[in-house]
Amino acid sequence: MRKKTLNFGIIGSGFMGRTHVFGIALASRLFELPVSLRLVKIADVSYDAARKAANEMGFEDFTGDWKDLIEDKKVDVINITTPNAFHKEMALEAIKAGKHVYCEKPLATSIGDANAMRKAANRANIKTQVGFNYLCNPMLKKARKMILDGDLGEILGFRGLHAEDYMVSRKSPFTWRHEKQGGGALADLGSHIIATAEFLIGPIKEVMGSCETAIKTRKDQLGLSRDIEVDDITRVFLRFENGATGSLEANWISMGRKMQHDFEVYGSEGAIFYSGERLNELLYYNNSDPTGEKGFRTIWAGPDHKPYDRFCVAPGHQLGFADLKAIEVKQFVDAITGLSPEPFNFDAGYRIQMLVDLIKKSSMQEKWLAVEID
Ligand code: NAD
Repeated sequence: MRKKTLNFGIIGSGFMGRTHVFGIALASRLFELPVSLRLVKIADVSYDAARKAANEMGFEDFTGDWKDLIEDKKVDVINITTPNAFHKEMALEAIKAGKHVYCEKPLATSIGDANAMRKAANRANIKTQVGFNYLCNPMLKKARKMILDGDLGEILGFRGLHAEDYMVSRKSPFTWRHEKQGGGALADLGSHIIATAEFLIGPIKEVMGSCETAIKTRKDQLGLSRDIEVDDITRVFLRFENGATGSLEANWISMGRKMQHDFEVYGSEGAIFYSGERLNELLYYNNSDPTGEKGFRTIWAGPDHKPYDRFCVAPGHQLGFADLKAIEVKQFVDAITGLSPEPFNFDAGYRIQMLVDLIKKSSMQEKWLAVEID
């Protein structure tokens, strides 16, 4: 008997739109899902952009109007892969239409908008997912398990970093990533490392942030000079609820760095280190190793670290960035079909937005601020 289909409609055909297509196409073939996944319709800013994307990526239909996509009765899931400022309106419309919503990170451009989105989602009979795909790396799951199993002993500290260099050139133009509301390195990259910090260590209790703008003006597409009011670098001190302390940095002008989604967790008995530039490796330091033989050793990603085994039977052959999206798609489909809870829903996305806003506020007020959440 043929499986039921789950029909996807994607808004946006840029970097992330394409990654979602890859994830859906791969997940439907790689994993044993109770439904088959169909790329039904894509929307973009214009008819021509949507038609081009549909032809290139194999959608059955396309539209230059995202509202038309949301109203389409054939579509079950709306993937929002547009700039951050559009997430709220698109998600609220999709929820109103009874669709499941898979929204890229950060969930919104402010805590107020994120709150409205999660409340609407919780009132509706639908499932939600926010795109924090790095959390889907089996090596992060392994790191978390080692922490929870006590392999590192008592957790004493966390150092996290998400650094890239795509904004280092002064000639890099003003884009939606520089918009005052919702732009900046902290929202763009910092949201990822905040999510990783809480995934590994648990809830953050207090933050002390410092947001810096290194490049003060940029030219927009029309050649007009625009003042930059968002951060290029944010550094944060952290206190976690479990007593551990730490720090993190978000940085998009870090020359030479391409994917430095890095963390180090150190405990009373051992430590782990991970770099997003080597995403198939987890370095483990065990303080019980004999004197003279101490040092970090590399744990290689392999079939033991599920679901790596679905991609490849041999260790060391490596997963990539887009593979993590396929894992995220699988997890969301499991949630939609009732097999497991939502792995990172709008409530979770709201919490990251709350922390982003709190860090900015702490920087402005130049003081520690505590998390207050309802
Ligand atoms: P992008 O600029 O490459 O693509 C945005 C797309 O949205 C373009 O196709 C654009 O034409 C389309 N678009 C813009 N306004 C639209 C509208 N009103 N209606 C329909 N389509 C519209 O941007 P991107 O890098 O793909 O980023 C998109 C989102 O994905 C952002 O929220 C970003 O933070 C997030 N992102 C997530 C990751 C990740 O690892 N999870 C990585 C990069 C970006």
